[in-house]
Amino acid sequence: MPQRLLVLGSTGSIGESTLDVVSRNADAFVVHALTAHRNIERLFKQCLKFRPALAIVSEPHHAIELQANLQSVGLKTEVYCGAQALCTAASAADYDTVVAAIVGAAGLPPVLSAARAGKKILLANKEALVMSGALFMDTAAKSGAVIVPVDSEHNAIFQCLHGAQKAPGEIERLILTASGGPFRTRPVHTLDQVTPDEACAHPNWRMGRKISVDSATMMNKGLELIEARWLFDIGAERIEALIHPQSIIHSMVVFRDQSVLAQLGTPDMRTPIAHALAYPQRMASGVEPLDLAKVATLTFEKPDLTRFPCLALAQQVIREGGGMSTVLNAANEVAVEAFLARRIRFTDIARVVDGVLQKNTGASVRSFEDVMATDEQSRQMGHEAVQRLCHSTAYFVSKPNHSSLSRS
Ligand code: NAD
Ligand code: MG
Repeated sequence: MPQRLLVLGSTGSIGESTLDVVSRNADAFVVHALTAHRNIERLFKQCLKFRPALAIVSEPHHAIELQANLQSVGLKTEVYCGAQALCTAASAADYDTVVAAIVGAAGLPPVLSAARAGKKILLANKEALVMSGALFMDTAAKSGAVIVPVDSEHNAIFQCLHGAQKAPGEIERLILTASGGPFRTRPVHTLDQVTPDEACAHPNWRMGRKISVDSATMMNKGLELIEARWLFDIGAERIEALIHPQSIIHSMVVFRDQSVLAQLGTPDMRTPIAHALAYPQRMASGVEPLDLAKVATLTFEKPDLTRFPCLALAQQVIREGGGMSTVLNAANEVAVEAFLARRIRFTDIARVVDGVLQKNTGASVRSFEDVMATDEQSRQMGHEAVQRLCHSTAYFVSKPNHSSLSRS
């Protein structure tokens, strides 16, 4: 029987890669539903190709336009709109597997609905897990939902642990590799002049703009340390980040006997996506074979926390626990959005996050309602911090200031 798929965020980088893998293995899947925020042109093209039963967008006027366009070509896809429609679709009985590829906190409610409904969840949306870690994993465990990580590092660890998952005492450490992003070697004193396009020009991966900025600040690796802590139920002190600029080793597991297992591959998200789609089998991904002789050298270095203060903030949050990762995620989303809109500098992202964390020490979340309330409150604080930091349009030529993280 083909797997019936719901692809949340089908027009994004992960969504498009997913549909590419699906089209290479067409007999194995029925695309049941596709969703997008505002990119209805791309969603229309995807509907033409995959003929889903459902399409969901955020705004009513986009839904009306898309429905009319689909009808004009004789397609019977039903179009809905809004966050509630995503949750309804995610909890329905008429599909098997959800690909959670919406970016940011907006992805949590539908993936939570899927977790409650006991679906197979291909998790790319790391923010959902960072916001609600233990609660989310408990919900999935209760319903029998199977979570297969798509984030390349976690997918690598998942692959290395195959067959060893029932013996957590055998795992000594997880090593999450990180490329170091576009600014690994750029002089630190020039980082406050970084433009959004420079920050989004990742050396190894083509991704959406939010995760690209997160990779440039290394907040992405911080979020991934938190993601790994919950996915693999392992103490944060046993998870570390290691810079590996070639992005060939996607992560490693160190076992009790000092055996180290790594998963390698050409840096292309279609490999973890194909692995997760086919799990527990394998399928073709369309990815270039890895030619190690061509790669020639694999190098490693410890991350420099002065260059990457966002990584230090995430590590601090992991130690503090409670609801602090919900706070971190919300503040970071607000700060990244403000940076992409050229309202604050690249180096201000860490300042905003640090400021919001300092105002929320001891935050705790005991329910999903708490998670949403903490998210909302931290976003508000983030907006206020952005407002205070807002610079004139001349900010890209102003003098650097890195004397401290919290600028008053
Ligand atoms: P993207 O920006 O390319 O795509 C995001 C998708 O979400 C789009 O389809 C967009 O229409 C939809 N979306 C955005 N805001 C929405 C909202 N408010 N409501 C409903 N839909 C909304 O992002 P991406 O790079 O594909 O990343 C998606 C997720 O996967 C992120 O959580 C990211 O951290 C994670 N991830 C991405 C990669 C990658 O290589 N791109 C790798 C690992 C993990
Ligand atoms: Mg990753």
